Amino acid sequence: MWPAWLPLRSDLQPLTAYGAPQLPAEASLNTNENPYPPSIALQQAITAAVAEASSTLNRYPDRDAGKLRAGLASYINEVNGSSFGTNNAWAANGSNEIIQSLFLAFGNTAALGFTPSYSMHPIISLVAGTKWVNGKRNDDFSFNLDFAIHDVVLTKPNLTFITTPNNPTGDAISISEIEALAKVVGENGGLLVVDEAYAEFSSEDSAVNLIAEYPHVIVIRTMSKAFAFAGVRVGYLIADPVVIDAMMLVRLPYHLSALTQAAALVALDFREELLSNVGALITAREDLKDSLHALGLQTAPSAANFILFTGFKKSSTQLWAQLLEKGVLIRDVGLSSYLRVTIGNEAENKAFIKALSELL
Ligand SMILES: *Cc1c(COP(=O)(O)O)cnc(C)c1O
Repeated sequence: MWPAWLPLRSDLQPLTAYGAPQLPAEASLNTNENPYPPSIALQQAITAAVAEASSTLNRYPDRDAGKLRAGLASYINEVNGSSFGTNNAWAANGSNEIIQSLFLAFGNTAALGFTPSYSMHPIISLVAGTKWVNGKRNDDFSFNLDFAIHDVVLTKPNLTFITTPNNPTGDAISISEIEALAKVVGENGGLLVVDEAYAEFSSEDSAVNLIAEYPHVIVIRTMSKAFAFAGVRVGYLIADPVVIDAMMLVRLPYHLSALTQAAALVALDFREELLSNVGALITAREDLKDSLHALGLQTAPSAANFILFTGFKKSSTQLWAQLLEKGVLIRDVGLSSYLRVTIGNEAENKAFIKALSELL
């Protein structure tokens, strides 16, 4: 498939580029984006901040993104009663870049995750050249602490990933289970990476409050989901300061553009407004779950802004394609007989249920 003259790494040659299809649709419910666009006031504030930053675009940006990291730490403190500072926070172009930096810094033996979970964890592992191990979950996809501990002890990975709430299933792991796993991960010489991309939609406590006692716990967050800021690409991590020092070894110089930093600082100022739709999305999630049940379908428990559902007779790929023909784009996550739908706005959710009821 690749031409012979191209010296592509042999471990990359069997791969094809991965990503959710970006297709025009009436209802785009496939990538767990927030359906609510920025308000006019926020658009204007971003425009003004970008205009100001543009007067010095001949210069490189703040290489350490100090103001933004301070702002992200204080947002986390506000929600969790913690006292993190700039040296506990690291920001990058989406949490995907954060994950890549973790592999560059710490991916020297193996990485472990519990599938099905976020598909980018194993993909970035592969690209970084780190051995990836698929850990075990229950048959209904829920997290099983005993299985997880068993896999950590057996594999002794440098990096253990958990995602809570988990994507694509939606279930959240309790803080006591995360703490129990953190102990075992630490005893086996690794780091526990807790991907909390959907934390704002969940009522479970954040793992950030474990960091003081367990400095090998790293929490990943993003502005792409609850914050409704996916287009800007800002992800961050909260961790012990020595983890941040390690991030500085592997980051590219000036990785976060001045425009990104300026826009993200405005979004933090508008956090109350941006996060005000979280409650509505949770209510809509529960309503959508009821509608799916009323159609005779089953749903996995979700503490996020999406629902994994099953119980339809067609294949996932066929139902996915037929929904798209009706203008509704959802996600085939590669689990046979399951599909995942993101919670959209009222019109999108209605369109989804209407199209689905016509196809079952
Ligand atoms: C969406 C998602 C991310 C976010 O990635 P960004 O690069 O920050 O947009 C990270 N982790 C999980 C589990 C996700 O579902």
